[in-house]
Amino acid sequence: MSTSAASPEPYPREGLPLEEARRQVLAALMPLAGSERLPLQQALGRVSAEPVLATEAVPGFRASIMDGYALAAASVPQVGHSWPLVGRSAPGAPYPRTLAEGEAIRILTGAPLPEGATRVLPQELVAADGERLSLMREVGPNPWIRAADEEAAAGQELLGAGVRLGPADLGRLASCGVAELVVRRRPRVGLLITGDELVPAGSARGPGQIWESNGTLLVALLERLGLAVAERRVVADQPAALRAALLELAAGCDLVVSTGGVSAGDSDWIRPLLAELGSVAFWKLFLKPGRPFAFGRLGDGGAGTPFFGLPGNPVAAAITALQLLLPALQLLEGAPVQPLPRLKVRLAADLKRGSGRPELARARLQVGPDGELLALVGGSQASSRIGSLQGADLLLEIPAELGTLAAGTELWAQLLRLPIF
Ligand code: AMP
Ligand code: MG
Repeated sequence: MSTSAASPEPYPREGLPLEEARRQVLAALMPLAGSERLPLQQALGRVSAEPVLATEAVPGFRASIMDGYALAAASVPQVGHSWPLVGRSAPGAPYPRTLAEGEAIRILTGAPLPEGATRVLPQELVAADGERLSLMREVGPNPWIRAADEEAAAGQELLGAGVRLGPADLGRLASCGVAELVVRRRPRVGLLITGDELVPAGSARGPGQIWESNGTLLVALLERLGLAVAERRVVADQPAALRAALLELAAGCDLVVSTGGVSAGDSDWIRPLLAELGSVAFWKLFLKPGRPFAFGRLGDGGAGTPFFGLPGNPVAAAITALQLLLPALQLLEGAPVQPLPRLKVRLAADLKRGSGRPELARARLQVGPDGELLALVGGSQASSRIGSLQGADLLLEIPAELGTLAAGTELWAQLLRLPIF
């Protein structure tokens, strides 16, 4: 029998609140040592290991920001004035001499201003016949000149250490002549997928078997966030096989993540194995979805490789990975720990729920007619239904004590959208 969305849970109030769990995880970890030098184009999503300084001013010369004419004119030009045209400056082909007072040249966008030039007249304001230039319309105060150090002054810091590199960082570094940079080593992540019932997608299912999906989802999630899984194994719920896999992954990786087998059922071996092979820092979260969760260390007398035992239910695995694994990986890589941005939204419709645990509900973001932000919660929020993650824009933070919520209720939500630049 399925339980209705509004029925209370048959569990005691137990487990670590998410904030406290995140605090404990981050307090237990240190950034990894190591870095490598990469060509700029390969550095997207990596973390800078040291500051990058401009070697020269950029653009390095005063440039026109309009197609038009450059003048040497001590005073603001008046309508009806005219000037002799003495040459031309194009991008890559500067006018080679100093402009004398009263002289003008043709100039194109991005081309260097000759010495002596005081302003550019956009071509829309003038008439020119190749020999002379006349001002037809009033000019404003804008000289239409880009400063020689508009993008950067020589020696200026272009980028600090510990920045996750986006397209704008890379583009700006290229514009300042930087061709390669030193980035921090990526954490090696070992992924252990557990479950007797799992078969790979693409193969036929026997009775009671399901297609394995956590591996696919988690690898893709980490890739999306600029992180990679170094090794991935699928292992049945057998203690000997799990023990061997955990030890091997712990020896070869900076961090080990498992999914499944971390509850208190007969085939849930992860927590006892973590206790046997290392240490359990905490077990169980006060969170829905995501109650079964273990954090600790593998090997080295309990001080070894950090270990995250994620739940088996796919939505719970994805959400706890976002909440706890992602900040841990950011810290290990030496990047700023950046939780998802939070914003206040209003429920677009009534929401039936049984109070019990704080919940992270998947929702779509809509903008109402007056610009108000609305959260649309659609379909079942069961932690087994991956469909609830598809197209989700928000994780709605619903406090434990709240029961059924009326449309219009204001809640905090985490934004599931990537930065572009
Ligand atoms: P467990 O915590 O191992 O009892 O798993 C909880 C639920 O998630 C069970 O219904 C499992 O069949 C399911 N599950 C566990 N691992 C996976 C996986 N890798 N892919 C898809 N479903 C899974
Ligand atoms: Mg299992």
